[in-house]
Amino acid sequence: MTIQGHPVHPGRPCPHSTGKGCDDYANRPTDPCINFNCGWVVEGSPLPDWMKPENARVIVIFNKTTWQGLPVDVAVPVGRRIPPRALNWLKAFAEQHGRPLLFSEQLKENGRFTREQMFMAHGPAAFQQHVASLTAAGEPLW
Ligand code: SF4
Repeated sequence: MTIQGHPVHPGRPCPHSTGKGCDDYANRPTDPCINFNCGWVVEGSPLPDWMKPENARVIVIFNKTTWQGLPVDVAVPVGRRIPPRALNWLKAFAEQHGRPLLFSEQLKENGRFTREQMFMAHGPAAFQQHVASLTAAGEPLW
């Protein structure tokens, strides 16, 4: 993402982050900051306590987009990869509730992590094909 002209790469803090908050909260941009709804704190969140982002190392955004009338949730790692326990929970939740899931992990090149993330799809085969064709065409996923 880009915050007030500064690129912010996955797994790296925003330059305005103090570690406990934002040093320019009043002037934070609308997108992504004001529009962002962390899935752990939204009212009625189905995430269990242990899925708090600082513990589970994943940030979940519910209802990020839709596919064939179904809500699609997005999960991004706090770091390079979503830990298996959290990812398994999210996949099971997606299956039980008919909510296709998009989740990302940091790409490796020549054995080293790059700054890029790749999104993967979990859900019906047609959803996975849809995401694969958007990705191949370089089109946004939402
Ligand atoms: S609210 Fe926005 S500008 Fe402030 S620290 Fe978070 S991402 Fe950065």
